[in-house]
Amino acid sequence: MIQRPKGTEDILPADVYKWQYIEKTLTELASLYGFYEIHFPVFEYTELFARSVGESSDIVGKEMYTFNDRGGRSVTLRPEGTAGAVRASLQNGLTSGNFPLPQKIWYNITAYRYENVQKGRLREFHQFGAEVFGSNSPYADAELIGFGAQIFAKFGLNNIDLEINSIGCKECRKTYTAALREYFAKHIETLCDTCKNRLETNPMRILDCKSPICKEIAADAPIILDYLCDECKEHFEKLQQILTINGVKYTVNPRIVRGLDYYTKTVFEFIASGVGTQGTVLGGGRYDGLFEEIGGKPTPALGFAMGIERLLLAMTEQKAFLPEPVKPIYYIGSGASDNEKQKALEIAAGLRKKGFRVLTDISDRSFKAQMKYADKSGVKFACIIGENEIQSGEIRMKDMTTGDEKIVKIEELM
Ligand code: ATP
Ligand code: MG
Repeated sequence: MIQRPKGTEDILPADVYKWQYIEKTLTELASLYGFYEIHFPVFEYTELFARSVGESSDIVGKEMYTFNDRGGRSVTLRPEGTAGAVRASLQNGLTSGNFPLPQKIWYNITAYRYENVQKGRLREFHQFGAEVFGSNSPYADAELIGFGAQIFAKFGLNNIDLEINSIGCKECRKTYTAALREYFAKHIETLCDTCKNRLETNPMRILDCKSPICKEIAADAPIILDYLCDECKEHFEKLQQILTINGVKYTVNPRIVRGLDYYTKTVFEFIASGVGTQGTVLGGGRYDGLFEEIGGKPTPALGFAMGIERLLLAMTEQKAFLPEPVKPIYYIGSGASDNEKQKALEIAAGLRKKGFRVLTDISDRSFKAQMKYADKSGVKFACIIGENEIQSGEIRMKDMTTGDEKIVKIEELM
């Protein structure tokens, strides 16, 4: 039998209800903040991700699903949502001045990364993302982070930690990168091979390396907060003030750098306990340089993405509320004749018009087999339409939980 590709998941009907509940809740929350949903393609030209996510990132370096289409153009399955969202906004003029600024958009997408598959780390996964285009203000950062915090509160997750950091702008990073290079150069022999390269290309990436040895070396590396320029420092302090006044609990973790090259200033992560090493459920930050990077006017922007699989893992772990699948209410069975079947269909059609969930016999089964099917399907009430019932206009309705039976007029039922 053909198996599904490694790192993908089938979401069966019994679980889809959980997903629908999460999607509905997120849609409602997003609209409270004035976010509108956007759709964009599953694949884009490869240069979009190369330029936005960045050549030195893990994603572009080793995780992308890239192939040439039949016309010979290199295309890539989206590894994340921000690049596509920004490209779509630029191409359609959302930030051109014809629409209100800031623009706030959200998306709920599948994303694709060729990963080392583990619990909470898949090759096809789902992200809910929110992006804000056109504001420099730390109030925008605070609102976005507050939205994130509200998501976890709404889903009843209490064991979630918010960690924030500032990774500065191009200017502060020049001096910081030099300091990092000097520090890591002393350890070049012990760094992993990828990090040996990163020392040249982007030493900040080393801070995000998952190898235990690199982590240990990184623990004593210089921290970015000591290198922030006045503007970045002020922005970060103001953000913390606003969060504190509004009761959003956070800790500053100067080691957060995030996996994407495009971040500037604020970065943040919401981390769940009990999800193992894949505890970061939501990550985001500011990316003031991205619009220019892909050919637009300079536009300050920020956003976050949350992994739905990891959210679900955390919700299951922390025993948060998740709905049960909705079951049909009625089973309207029938005898084998066309006349009996037709009557059952009419009753079912009438009930469905009124909004009841109804099953009928569509496999020509015996009475006994029909009742077994009704029971297995979890219906609340079941009946069988025979010639007698059609003549008398009355049916015997069985309550499947108690086993009680009741005579009901077909007209009354409908
Ligand atoms: P990590 O450090 O765990 O690799 P990342 O920094 O690559 O994460 P982002 O690109 O910031 O992750 O994506 C945002 C969120 O999307 C993550 O916090 C996580 O919840 C989810 N996510 C990222 N990669 C995967 C994956 N391979 N499988 C499942 N969820 C993922
Ligand atoms: Mg990653």
